Amino acid sequence: MSPRLIFWISAVVRIALVLLGTASAIYLWGATAGLVIGMSGMIALFCVQLFYLQRLADWLDHPSSSRLPDGWGAWTDIFSRLYKLRRGDEKNQAELAEWLARFRQAMTLLPDGVVIMDDVLFLEWCNPAAESHLGLSHAQDKGMRVTNLVRSPEFMDYIILGRYDTPLTLSFRDRKLIAHIIPFENRRQILVTHDVTESERIDMMRRDFIANASHELRTPLTVINGFLEIASMQSDLDNQTRNMHLKLMTEQGERMQRLVEDMLTLTRLESVDHPPRPERINMLGMLEQILQEAHALSAGRHQITLECSGPDIKGSNDEIRSALTNLVTNAIRYTPENGNIRITWIDTEQGPKFAVQDDGIGISPEHISRLTERFYRVDKSRSRETQGTGLGLAIVKHVLLRHKANLLIESTPDVGSKFCVQFPVAAVSV
Ligand code: ADP
Repeated sequence: MSPRLIFWISAVVRIALVLLGTASAIYLWGATAGLVIGMSGMIALFCVQLFYLQRLADWLDHPSSSRLPDGWGAWTDIFSRLYKLRRGDEKNQAELAEWLARFRQAMTLLPDGVVIMDDVLFLEWCNPAAESHLGLSHAQDKGMRVTNLVRSPEFMDYIILGRYDTPLTLSFRDRKLIAHIIPFENRRQILVTHDVTESERIDMMRRDFIANASHELRTPLTVINGFLEIASMQSDLDNQTRNMHLKLMTEQGERMQRLVEDMLTLTRLESVDHPPRPERINMLGMLEQILQEAHALSAGRHQITLECSGPDIKGSNDEIRSALTNLVTNAIRYTPENGNIRITWIDTEQGPKFAVQDDGIGISPEHISRLTERFYRVDKSRSRETQGTGLGLAIVKHVLLRHKANLLIESTPDVGSKFCVQFPVAAVSV
């Protein structure tokens, strides 16, 4: 049965009951008494309706499904339907609130900045990434004009021109941002900011690296090509000149080979992001081999000593050998004849420590912090003279980074240098 039908039946029944009561009273006690009883019945019915209307009005002031009044007659149905509606409303509201909370949390975690503004660029809301990108504060700046907060001529031009179909590259507060305004709804706009500072830096490093590498390779190639041209044009070169040219070409070829090998090593070290496979490194064995190679390179021009009392460590044998060899080789290359080179491997409280000390040409303090940059050299001609690629210390830095070790450089011009490698205590192989 439909609720409407039930409503009408119960109303008709109630009125019929009153009329029946009135008729019975007229029959039993006369017309006057019957009408009084009938009127009283109607008034009672009217008062009951008023009472429930009042309860409904009270409830509408503070609607809550838990405080809905009980009803009588048709009111039972009205209140139960109101209860259902209210419950549905409350559920929808709870779902909406949950969605809003989830949306806000997602916006908070977003690495990109999101600023919601009205049609005249007054700030309505922004997420933490936008606060850090643009120096905004949602709490303080709400209701302020974004162009007064983001003071940048590029940003102003972007707003004035209104070409929002293309994003803007914005340099702001030492950051490089890609900013994009997207109009939405009728009278709102979203400003999205994406921080590209780090990727720009990496791009620049890559460009520099390619430019430097090309430059480094061009020099020996020019020399080789020059000699090849001479050889092709002058077939009557005497043996001595020919041999001299061949020797110089071989030297340049070897130089190119060293460069390519060092570049490949660096690329390999950079491209693996997993830590090195921890193998036990026999430090005494490794350092004795490095010492032998150092003697061979020095060809008796230096006094080289080794003191080895430190423990064996865990790490990549090849990588550590290449890093330490680089440091020892540098000490020989930058120390004039009769100089002293002291190699030590000791254990300290902070962990095992490798050091190579020379009394060579030394380095001025302003260069020290830049030595591990690729192709950075204090004296380019000296580095080339001693067959340097300019990548040795960059390789050392990467290897040590992968082994959680630190490179410490102390140097005084014309007195000498000390390159120390401090390994962590955890590197000791037990
Ligand atoms: P290179 O192949 O030019 O030696 P490195 O990266 O090995 O490149 O070293 C970078 C620069 O650091 C060198 O060009 C040199 O100027 C300086 N250098 C490195 N080791 C020493 C040292 N022991 N004494 C003086 N200068 C050094």
